[in-house]
Parts: sequence; C-alpha cells; structure tokens
Amino acid sequence: MKRVTILGSTGSIGQSTLQVLAQHSQKFQVYALSAHSNVKKMVQQCRAFLPQIVVMVDENAAQQLHKQLRENADTASIKVLSGADNVVQIARSAQTDYVMAAIVGAAGLPGALAAARSGKRVMLANKEALVMAGKLFMRAIQQSGAELLPVDSEHNAIFQSLPENFSVHQDNASYGIEKIILTASGGPFLYHTQDQLKNVTAAQACAHPNWSMGKKISVDSATMMNKGLEIIEASWLFGMRAQDIEVVIHPQSIIHSLVSYCDGSVLAQLGHPDMCTPIAFALSWPERIEIPVKRLNLAQIATLEFLPPDLSRFPCLRLSYDALKQGGGATVVLNAANEVAVEAFLQQKIPFMAIAQLVEYVLLKTPDRAIEYLHDIDELDQMARITSQQWLSDQYRLGLS
Ligand code: NAD
Ligand code: MG
Repeated sequence: MKRVTILGSTGSIGQSTLQVLAQHSQKFQVYALSAHSNVKKMVQQCRAFLPQIVVMVDENAAQQLHKQLRENADTASIKVLSGADNVVQIARSAQTDYVMAAIVGAAGLPGALAAARSGKRVMLANKEALVMAGKLFMRAIQQSGAELLPVDSEHNAIFQSLPENFSVHQDNASYGIEKIILTASGGPFLYHTQDQLKNVTAAQACAHPNWSMGKKISVDSATMMNKGLEIIEASWLFGMRAQDIEVVIHPQSIIHSLVSYCDGSVLAQLGHPDMCTPIAFALSWPERIEIPVKRLNLAQIATLEFLPPDLSRFPCLRLSYDALKQGGGATVVLNAANEVAVEAFLQQKIPFMAIAQLVEYVLLKTPDRAIEYLHDIDELDQMARITSQQWLSDQYRLGLS
C-alpha cells in the first residue's frame, strides 16, 4: 500500500489524481490533501478519501473546513491545518511515500522541493517548480534518491519513449538521442490572425479545444507560454539544450511528444488526451495499472496534422527559448512576469497580446543573477513581480489598456 499526498487536490490535476486513486484503492491510500481555499470541494474529497491530514493554505478556509468535518463522524478525526508551511510539512512527512505536486504556479515550488529533498516519489505536474528552480530541484532529487515522475503529458510521453536505463546525468548522445520533439495543440487561438488576437477574452482563452484545465495553464496554452515553460521543464528533466528541443503544433493532441534517435527512429507515446493516463503511469511506474480512459481509435481519428509554430503571433515561445538560452535567473523572471500578466489578463486589466509585452519588458528590465540558493530565486521572483506591477500601473497611467 503506497501512501499518497496530493498538493493541490481540488484542482484539475488533483481531482484526476483522486479519480485514478479511487480506481485502485487496494494499492494506494490517501495520506494528506492540500488546497488553497476551496472548502466545498475539500469536504467532498475528505468524505470520499478520509485522509489523515488536510492543509488549507487560507486560514479562514481551514476553520470552515474543520467545522464541517466535525459534523460527520467519519471525518471528525481528520486533522485540519492551515498555512503554506504545513503544505511543506505534509510533502516531507515520513507518513507519505508519493507526493503529487499539483499546485499551480510559483506557490507550488516549496512543497515540490520538500518532497524532492525528502526522497519521495515526486509526481510532478507543477512545471513552474522546474522553470524557477530546475538546478536546485534536480540536485535535490539526486541527493535524496527521490524518484521523479513527470506528469505533464508531453514529458510523461518523453519519459515513456526514452531508453529504460536513461539517466539525466549521462550524456544523451550515449543513448543515441538526437533531440526531443514537444507537441503543442496550438490552443484555442491557433488560427487567429494578429488582429483577431487583440480582442480575445479570458473566457475564450480558457476554453481549450482538447484539455480541461485550471485557468492559469489554459491562458498559458492560449499564449503558448505553456509550451515555452515546457521547453524549460524538458531541458531540466532530460538534460537537453534549447537547440535540441523542438516544438511542433499538432492540433489533435494524440501524439503527446516524441524522442528522435541517431538511427532515424522516432519514438512517441500516443493516447486519447486525458491526464488520467500520465497520472496513472506516474503512480504505477515501472508497472502499469488499468484505468477506464477512452481508447485510441486511429481509424476513427483518420487524420493527424502537424505544423510549425508561429513565433510572431505567439512571442511567448520565443521569449522562453531566449530565457532558457540565457540561463541564470532569466527563467525565474519569465515565470514571475507571466504569472502577474496572466492574472491581470484574467481580471480584464490588460489585453491578450499585452501578456507577452509585459513579460518581454520585465525580462529586459530585471538584472540577471546567478541562482545558487532558494533565497536567490525568491528575491528575483519578487523583483520581477514588482517590475511587472510597475509596468501595469504605467499602462493604466498612459491609458493603454
Ligand atoms: P488548478 O488551478 O485547477 O488547481 C490548482 C490547485 O492548486 C488547487 O487545488 C488550488 O487550491 C491550489 N492552489 C492554488 N493556489 C495555491 C497557493 N497559493 N497555495 C497552495 N495551493 C494553491 O490547476 P491545474 O490545472 O490542476 O494545474 C496544476 C499544475 O499542474 C500547474 O502547474 C499546471 O501547469 C500543471 N499541469 C496541469 C495540467 C492540466 O491538465 N490541468 C496538465 C499539465 C500540467
Ligand atoms: Mg503539457
């Protein structure tokens, strides 16, 4: 029986994880759950999975949850804690074997890093952790002997297409690996012109054609920043240089990514787009468990399309490649500026195309620095957020948004 902690259990990945766990309750047991403030969903999850501990980051939400869990005999003994520090505690608890890191954004880093440092099986959905702290995170995994299983569908596909004995610490050429190819659906605005992109709304951006996801990653998919973050994520996970990571648009999201070898072979993982598949793989590796996702019927799909990405309509992809090449703290800045920009777009403070403008401005304005410790990352992240807020208030003053 493996004991599982889910950081971000009320989100899209968190809920899919619980769905998979429910189908295999003889193999997995939920130890702890955490969320920001969604009490209603957490009550339901507590009733269904009876975790030992729940952490609500928001203090008020924790109090409400505590009260509601007390009303029912089954859930009355569940321990309820609050605050971000306790998220770190459940991630590194000796009571847990597996940690699903599914908090969105920079807020997910401390918990994911704690799990990595404590030698857990880290099932990583929170790509921002690697974008911000790839070096520290990978070092922590190596030093603690933790198992790192990528949950992001592209990275999970690459993991599945690599040689069984693959190690990120060995030269990729020794495995005959030439490059990796990340597929991208292209998001809801794949065929929009520059002019049409100027007027798109948050609701349109969040309506992804193939995947149902949280708001932040949905907007990231629409700007293609998601693919940019995934390039950086892949570089850390698989030890690839920016020039060895290619992006191809594949609107059907059937091929989840590919690895290209020196003999001309290209290995890929395919499947119906459903996050339960990479989640089940991360839970069961090196074995497989059965889950009732829709099976792939290629004859029914009939056509798979591929096209090159358009960096002029989707400049976030270019900015990400540049930040990765620059190294140092550039990817911390990219991530922080993007988080502020996406939030401003969701609150209708800036238009869609301003997301990339803000990120580009903040990347130019924030002095780079070497990243050695977590506090270097925190400082740079804060600096980039302040510069982003200044850019936003300048836009207001100038009446441009
Ligand atoms: P979501 O918005 O649906 O859920 C986010 C979860 O994090 C919620 O449980 C929320 O309560 C929690 N949370 C939010 N802010 C928090 C904070 N400050 N402190 C602690 N917890 C907080 O997001 P999602 O779509 O499930 O994505 C989660 C992560 O997984 C993201 O990093 C995303 O990029 C990645 N991911 C998601 C998908 C997907 O299909 N949804 C696919 C690949 C990768
Ligand atoms: Mg992905």
